[in-house]
Amino acid sequence: MLHAMSTTALARRGSDIATRLRAGLLDVLLPQQCIVCGDFGASLHPECLTAFPPAEGSRCARCWRPVPTTWCERCASEGPDVPAFDALRTPFRFEDHARRAILEAKFRGITSHLPVLAGAAVEVIPPEWRYDAVVAVPLARVRERRRGYNQAAILARHIARATGVREHGRLIARVRSTPAQATLSAERRATNLVGAFAVRGVPPPAVLVVDDVTTTGSTLDAVASALKAAGAERVYVLAVARED
Ligand SMILES: [Zn+2]
Ligand SMILES: [Zn+2]
Repeated sequence: MLHAMSTTALARRGSDIATRLRAGLLDVLLPQQCIVCGDFGASLHPECLTAFPPAEGSRCARCWRPVPTTWCERCASEGPDVPAFDALRTPFRFEDHARRAILEAKFRGITSHLPVLAGAAVEVIPPEWRYDAVVAVPLARVRERRRGYNQAAILARHIARATGVREHGRLIARVRSTPAQATLSAERRATNLVGAFAVRGVPPPAVLVVDDVTTTGSTLDAVASALKAAGAERVYVLAVARED
């Protein structure tokens, strides 16, 4: 009923719909052009992923940092600085085409290549990972409303479908809006996120957390901390790219 809703709420709902329509329309109306080869017809050909910078070589078994040893110094310390997640994997380094593909989804409303990126992420899931639910790192509500979608949630949906595990869309919430991470120093990033995530109800024993990109890993550490505090035993993280 219209009179039950304030004018502000109505206006906000109107602009939500407009944002979503704009994001959808960009995908439909712009002729799709591959990020890598420039050919029209798709925003990213699966075969063009071979041009992406692979996150290969020797890496830390937990945080995926490039190191010549099994564990990086931080993860080997067993101290309080060890990330709360059990392991993280990404198919790519956050450079060149991988960087561009992620930024197009983050800031330009182009999302049609996300299923291809999700497919690449699925390929690097270690065979020993067993998880009961897939969850995306949530965006702050205000930011999601402005953007019209959460690119991590789109990735999570495709990863859940491809691996036959249910996606738990409402398990994690951002409890307060945090300043955009990119504007903060590494030190501020860590403190900014303390208590930023809340888990609704009891999580299943093992959870796969999905994000588009990881830089310092502090967001994913905070999500994993929240999940473990709520009772999760194992938390795995899958992202498309890692900033080395
Ligand atoms: Zn191509
Ligand atoms: Zn490590």
